[in-house]
Amino acid sequence: MIIVLKPQATRHDADELIDRIGALGLKPLYMPGVERVVIGALGDERVLERLQLAGHPAVESVKPILAPYKLVGRDLHPSDSVISIGPVEIGGERIAVIAGPCAVESPAQMGLAAVQVLEAGATILRGGAFKPRTSPYAFQGLGAAGLEILGAVAKQLGVPAVTEVLDAADLEAADPHVDCYQIGARNMQNFRLLKAVGQGRKPVILKRGPSARIEELLLAAEYILAEGNPNVVLCERGIQTFDQVTRNVLDVAAVVAIKARSHLPVIVDPSHGTGVRAYVAPLARAAIAAGADGVMVEVHPDPATALSDGAQSLDAHQFRQLMRTLGPVAAAIGRSL
Ligand code: PEP
Ligand code: MN
Repeated sequence: MIIVLKPQATRHDADELIDRIGALGLKPLYMPGVERVVIGALGDERVLERLQLAGHPAVESVKPILAPYKLVGRDLHPSDSVISIGPVEIGGERIAVIAGPCAVESPAQMGLAAVQVLEAGATILRGGAFKPRTSPYAFQGLGAAGLEILGAVAKQLGVPAVTEVLDAADLEAADPHVDCYQIGARNMQNFRLLKAVGQGRKPVILKRGPSARIEELLLAAEYILAEGNPNVVLCERGIQTFDQVTRNVLDVAAVVAIKARSHLPVIVDPSHGTGVRAYVAPLARAAIAAGADGVMVEVHPDPATALSDGAQSLDAHQFRQLMRTLGPVAAAIGRSL
């Protein structure tokens, strides 16, 4: 329920209402705005009737939150959220570019990839240490050693880093080395993991599952916010359809649809979204043109020898070329790189 207070309502009025909402077993939220204070009440809204808010002298209006994703939706939070990953803001005027190899393979490979993507203008480094592979016989990542390598490279170059966590047990190991956790497409509805990252404050990039509806993605994000962590960035990375010409079908419309429903920033991963190196740059441009707040691109110093996702990885030259074209696309919609 959204409770809008009258302009003359005092902090004391708000506190009194918050106490009464809490006493009913609902979760109160205090949201001071420029002109009015808004109080949210989350939980079984039927019990709110007992407060008779409509007749309360400090209350201007009471309306239900229609969306099932109460904290992620725009009812309670109409303006766009800006989420910080280290010093990099996602969701503001500037487009964020997250780049790096699919997997951390060695100090030399990670170090070279990092220098290459940063020189080209990327602002956040990626590198997988725990790899969720379709086949149990495929390279599973370097694990803890991969985290150490990623963390050391990021620290040396002074850039924030993101890595995927597969399980709540990975958080403790990853925490000292990265500025942001990635929850991958396969774990979008790993509710224990969602709750675990929700209990901290570290930002989370939450990827859409290959078969997940947008509403399911938003409800998965709601799990994180409901635990208290507001720092979530949503990522469209392609969904499975009948077509086999690309690895996944990148749903560019999802960017617009998510933004219509949620205040959270949205980024796009055209690498997993297409699975085809030659398609990555056009879809990265399409994502920005559609209003995405950033892109995540896989880049490898030598894609032919990559231990995972070489076919969709750009080399340094291809990434530089892509970066040169993203600025004008961003400028065309009033943003910058
Ligand atoms: C990845 O980013 O390396 C990855 C495994 O992505 P996704 O979860 O989207 O498949
Ligand atoms: Mn990958």
